[in-house]
Amino acid sequence: MRVLLIEDDASIASAVIDSLEAVGWDVGHEASGIAGLNRLASDSWDVLLLDLGLPDLDGIEVARQARASGAFPIIVISARGDESDRVLALELGADDYLVKPFGMRELLARIRAVHRRAGSEGEVPLSTELVVGSLQVDTRTRRASIEGTELDLTPKEFDVLAYLAKEPGSAHRRETIMQDVWDMNWYGSTKTLDAHVASLRSKLGDARWIEAVRSVGFRLQEPE
Ligand code: CA
Repeated sequence: MRVLLIEDDASIASAVIDSLEAVGWDVGHEASGIAGLNRLASDSWDVLLLDLGLPDLDGIEVARQARASGAFPIIVISARGDESDRVLALELGADDYLVKPFGMRELLARIRAVHRRAGSEGEVPLSTELVVGSLQVDTRTRRASIEGTELDLTPKEFDVLAYLAKEPGSAHRRETIMQDVWDMNWYGSTKTLDAHVASLRSKLGDARWIEAVRSVGFRLQEPE
């Protein structure tokens, strides 16, 4: 596992580096947003750990640019625990959000979880392709297409789509989707889910693909 850490606080950085190296992972470290983005572009990484309070760029901006440059998972680590920062970070494509101070064991668990969900390790399930009418979702390659045209999805958009495609036609509760896709660690509102659904509808080309089920949540089905 190759992890890039962008964090300007030297004591937090050295604690994180020690913990990750102790389990045998390679860690790259940069203390500013610009240096971090350069390092991100110049090498290949499995997971990005990103502090929001950086001396040069705002971490949210770093997350936005990092997301635009690749599909690796991003975990935001921040002292900023308020909901607007969380929602913004998650909407911009961060896969998880850890509020400081956090335990190193929890950090390792979160890194493993986003990495596993990104499909880059672990067992290959027997059947990985979900088909809902003209929509195909392959959970192994993490590609989704409609009538053969690949959809350009963020990792979280893919996760939401794959979650709904596992049981097409069934109504799924918002809270259950949040728990499954964003993990049990999420205690915020479901605003970020609504934002992902809105974006998915637009990428699917027809809002009727994802129907809102009143006071429950959402269901996926091919538009008639
Ligand atoms: Ca900082």
